[in-house]
Amino acid sequence: MRIASKEISAVSLVKEALGKAKKYEDKNIFVSLNEENALRKAKEIDEKIARGEKVGRLAGVPYALKDNFLSKEGMTTASSHILEPFESPIDSTTVKKLESEGAIMIGRTNLDSFAHGSSTENSYFGVTKNARSDERVAGGSSGGSAVAVALDIVEFATGTDTGGSIRQPASFNGVYGFKPTYGTISRYGVVAMASSTDCIGFFTKSTEDMDLLMEICSGQDENDLTTLPDYYLDSKIKPAKKVGIIKDFDNDKVDENIKNALKEKVEFLKKKGVEIVELNMPTLKYALAVYYIIVPAEVASNLSRYDGIRYGFRSSEAKDLDEIYSKTRNEGFMTENKRRIMIGNFVLSSGFYDAYYLKAEKARTKIIEEYENAFKQVDFIITPVSPNPAFKIGEKVNDPVSMYLEDVMSVPINLAGVPSLAIPAGKTKEGLSLGLQIVGPRRSDKALLKFANELKEESDA
Ligand code: GLN
Repeated sequence: MRIASKEISAVSLVKEALGKAKKYEDKNIFVSLNEENALRKAKEIDEKIARGEKVGRLAGVPYALKDNFLSKEGMTTASSHILEPFESPIDSTTVKKLESEGAIMIGRTNLDSFAHGSSTENSYFGVTKNARSDERVAGGSSGGSAVAVALDIVEFATGTDTGGSIRQPASFNGVYGFKPTYGTISRYGVVAMASSTDCIGFFTKSTEDMDLLMEICSGQDENDLTTLPDYYLDSKIKPAKKVGIIKDFDNDKVDENIKNALKEKVEFLKKKGVEIVELNMPTLKYALAVYYIIVPAEVASNLSRYDGIRYGFRSSEAKDLDEIYSKTRNEGFMTENKRRIMIGNFVLSSGFYDAYYLKAEKARTKIIEEYENAFKQVDFIITPVSPNPAFKIGEKVNDPVSMYLEDVMSVPINLAGVPSLAIPAGKTKEGLSLGLQIVGPRRSDKALLKFANELKEESDA
């Protein structure tokens, strides 16, 4: 708005964002900056405005792109070595839609390589530091995007959430992070992790901004046959009367600060006249095990395309075709990528398929049913995003199981395909951000954002 009214120019906004990105270089937020293209586009927008031409709803707004979204501007790395130096011939649908409204990408943000992880420590380019503390992780996998918004470098950033990768870093850095209903935003042109749980979403500083981005980016796409028919704009919104809390998540592994944040929100809701219902969801305790069977299985097939021939890097050591595959994949993937490929191929192999993959899919159906039943009783559910605030760099990276346990409260939502918004929920005494998540039934996305807006308190940011 300020741009269209000529109060401020797009060029100065983009310059400011790039300046801040450089100021925080030590945080390792960006894999690459998009300086030249961003300034050129900003100039074009200012010229359009000067000529009195119509500009889009995001004209001149700087944003950051998680580096697993394809864009024709610069390299797409997915924070891996194996894609280097891959330059995409296409824009992802999300990039296209954002840019058609005049948004300007100022840089690509760091992530766990191929989005495998919960701390951004699995990135080929090194860890991203938390917005509030240099000793702590940003969360992951979309760590760079979360910190870019938390430090006010950009107005918004894109993310992908396969098992929590938007919500957990959002809560570790005190911003909003939304994983919409599966299929609401096209996955076309986004580096695939696990196709049945991957969702595209955003980091913002307000629910109103999130709503605008959803209006712009949601919708059916002929390039992604899993996209739902358009529903977002026409969503019917009723005031929420009942909110659920999950008894099964209330245990001694959850940090006191997070338990208190949840209690406070619950009290706040009660004061507003909302009825709180305790839900029994006993199948959720299997969600983490189910997730770490189904997701590696899909990862193993999605990563099979990186063969040293079609994209990016090829090992210089390889002497024949077999070695091109094996050496390229061995040198190009990070340890966590390889772990998932191995687990995935194991659970899919004959003899183990029935015992692991098939059983996990059956359990997934139970989890879906459990959410469906829950939403017969309540309008929304409120839970923690993760059991603890941001942990120390190096604390979990060598212990994959403790890293996987970080995801215990975020992955059931992806398995069920329902929407969830991470909201800021105050800070610890040491100043670390806390977050909670609001979960809704499928296609309740717009109502969920509206409800979250009513939940805002002075102390949250
Ligand atoms: N932390 C989860 C994992 O490592 C989720 C990742 C994601 O959502 N991309 O699988």
